[in-house]
Amino acid sequence: LERDALFRKRHNIHVSGYNVPSPLQNFEELSSRYKCEPYMSRNLAELGFREPTPIQRQAIPVLLHDRECFACAPTGSGKTLAFVCPMLIKLKDPSKNGIRAVILCPTRELSSQTYRECKKLAKGKKFRIKLMTKELSRNGDLTKFSCDILISTPLRLHLAIRRKEVDLSRVEYLVLDESDKLFELGLFEQIDSVIQACSNPSIIRSLFSATLPDLVEDRARELMHDAIRVIVGRKNM
Ligand code: ADP
Ligand code: MG
Repeated sequence: LERDALFRKRHNIHVSGYNVPSPLQNFEELSSRYKCEPYMSRNLAELGFREPTPIQRQAIPVLLHDRECFACAPTGSGKTLAFVCPMLIKLKDPSKNGIRAVILCPTRELSSQTYRECKKLAKGKKFRIKLMTKELSRNGDLTKFSCDILISTPLRLHLAIRRKEVDLSRVEYLVLDESDKLFELGLFEQIDSVIQACSNPSIIRSLFSATLPDLVEDRARELMHDAIRVIVGRKNM
């Protein structure tokens, strides 16, 4: 659509892939267009988020349309909300059907930050959002452990997988956040073990990154089949 193209241009959003959904004009569309329950708008208002950032405008509809997403936008441009918001909307309600979504972050600090952001956005819903801590994995048998969203570093989850402590076969959404840092840190083996363990064939994977080194591009191409690429330039940020 011409209108979408102009809107993207105005917000410095570059996309590639087929059938790219229209970008969000505003957060109200989450209710009007995507039938999201009122808790999300309430939480966004409470956080003081009036307008979606460019990466949110495009990545949120992509993920809400069940498309794989490869998103690149500068640090501080609101990438966390860009994947947490559609994840919560897609999960819809809490459920005890195993581990339903996994977010991988490069460091423990970033994991806790993402955890806090998830909690704020999920306020008013009884989603079970968990941080994969040493304590959690030390509790031994995690095989029957279930939660809506599990946030972890690759290492922590890799160790639990190796000890056959977690069952990731029902994960529906997998996000590799700060994937440039993840790959920079050389965590290939750990990341691969998580990807393999998330064996649900209908899983939706996505990669978020602040920069676009060839390494990340290559990995994105290997990991995803018909991902929509969303790149937000440095200008206008
Ligand atoms: P990134 O992961 O791209 O580096 P973050 O997701 O950490 O960025 O977000 C950076 C900051 O912007 C955070 O403090 C976050 O709460 C805030 N933020 C996110 N989305 C919005 C928005 N739509 N409006 C205003 N602030 C926002
Ligand atoms: Mg981030």
